[in-house]
Amino acid sequence: MGLPCSAGFSNITIMPNGDIYPCYMLSYDNRFYMGNIINGLNNYRLFKVQNFLKYVNVKTNIDQCRTCDIMKICNACLGDLKFGENGKVIIDNYACNYYLGLYEGFLVELNDIMLNDIKWKSFKENLRKMKEIVEYVEN
Ligand code: SF4
Repeated sequence: MGLPCSAGFSNITIMPNGDIYPCYMLSYDNRFYMGNIINGLNNYRLFKVQNFLKYVNVKTNIDQCRTCDIMKICNACLGDLKFGENGKVIIDNYACNYYLGLYEGFLVELNDIMLNDIKWKSFKENLRKMKEIVEYVEN
């Protein structure tokens, strides 16, 4: 399953003392501790942390996100979210305003590009080249 954030799956953070966390944004929070490089990954903690991250990576699982205009395209950093004691997600409005502004700026720029034939042609050509590079790297 593709997740917007790969923290704890294809990414980890190793702290100077060897402790392993899904991401530096979640480090030093004991709820995300996954083991230590000396003693190895703690399978119980890894399973628990990955399950939780899978859940909060899906925006429809978060009350505030369900009514948000950009829910389908938002990839807000999990580290910007706050987690209550019971695992309930508390959305940080400051972070959300950042993402709303970011996507608004992107859509305004995309609209500008689409209305200009030369820019639109160049944009599509660059996308095609990027696709070729990704396919080359993946094969
Ligand atoms: S901007 Fe905030 S409320 Fe909206 S989908 Fe992203 S994290 Fe959720």
